[in-house]
Amino acid sequence: MKDYFRPAIGAMSGYVPGEQPKMANLIKLNTNENPYPPAPGVKDAVALAAGNLRLYPDPQADELCQVAARLWGFRRNEVLAGNGSDDILTMIFRSFTDKERKVACLSPSYSLYKTLAAMQEAPVMEIALNPEDFSLPENLLQQVKGANLLIITRPNAPTGNSFPHSVMHEICARFDGVVLFDEAYADFADDNCLDLAKEFDNVLVSRTFSKSYSLAGVRLGLVMGSAELLTGLNKVKDSYNVDRLAQAAGIAALKDQEYLRKNIVAIRRSREFLGGALKELGFEVVPSCANFLFASPPDRDGERCFKFLRDHAVVVRYFPGEITGRFVRITVGTTQEITTLLEVLGKLYGKNA
Ligand SMILES: *Cc1c(COP(=O)(O)O)cnc(C)c1O
Repeated sequence: MKDYFRPAIGAMSGYVPGEQPKMANLIKLNTNENPYPPAPGVKDAVALAAGNLRLYPDPQADELCQVAARLWGFRRNEVLAGNGSDDILTMIFRSFTDKERKVACLSPSYSLYKTLAAMQEAPVMEIALNPEDFSLPENLLQQVKGANLLIITRPNAPTGNSFPHSVMHEICARFDGVVLFDEAYADFADDNCLDLAKEFDNVLVSRTFSKSYSLAGVRLGLVMGSAELLTGLNKVKDSYNVDRLAQAAGIAALKDQEYLRKNIVAIRRSREFLGGALKELGFEVVPSCANFLFASPPDRDGERCFKFLRDHAVVVRYFPGEITGRFVRITVGTTQEITTLLEVLGKLYGKNA
């Protein structure tokens, strides 16, 4: 067939999402979904919204953005909703990157950034994290000079660690471009950068409902930042980008902060337990501020660990590569899931293995 594609599309490989296996009875710890159900009010809210599917949704998701603005101390025009935070990322790449406008992001980090950059034909400046502890390089500001967009994933994925807030403040004050904090996991952490989106007009913070709010199935995300930046992002978004069911689910979820708090406490407790148990098996575990652990098995062979677990119906995530290949990324699941995971790992690395 004739090649109809733009050369940039021909040259790129699409983003490969984490596997969503069809097998029953599988323990799924590979894409950082929440092991607990969404807030109890979500089901009824979605059922009610389902009565009106004939009608288009609110193109600006106004009530949802109002609720979020009030919750986090923003004005209404400082919040914009997306079809998952991946959709927010798409708006951001469309707005701020092209052949001349480079994006800087961390390495290792969320690999979707590079795919979105390829669509825009935008050069990517990868900032290598320190290989010992995945901290930021001292000279980050020098390295990102000339970029128009800087993405800091905080807490980072797949490593799970965070970066000092004071350093984030300095970056926002001194970087001459847009700073995006991808805060997909911030609810599991000790702090966040929402205050920086209020203080600096070049700073955006994105959030997702997929992890802490247990709503990966509906696709919903938010971005907070100055009205100037959001007015521009609004121009490039799909017109009805957040469907009626997602808006209803998001409102109900945000309104139950007590449920969120309990969920977070449970996951943080399990994260601590799992981290300790992995260390006892000889794993090296990166201190995590997220709902997953990046852990390196005793033989430092991430692929072998991944395959062994897979053969025993436990799916985790493995990222090939010189640095990441020594690790597996394990989502913090239920107590039962963690028990099974540890039993399987005991067969491979335990004293009687
Ligand atoms: C999960 C994740 C997202 C995507 O969230 P969705 O709202 O499900 O699209 C964005 N960034 C990071 C770092 C993530 O881990």
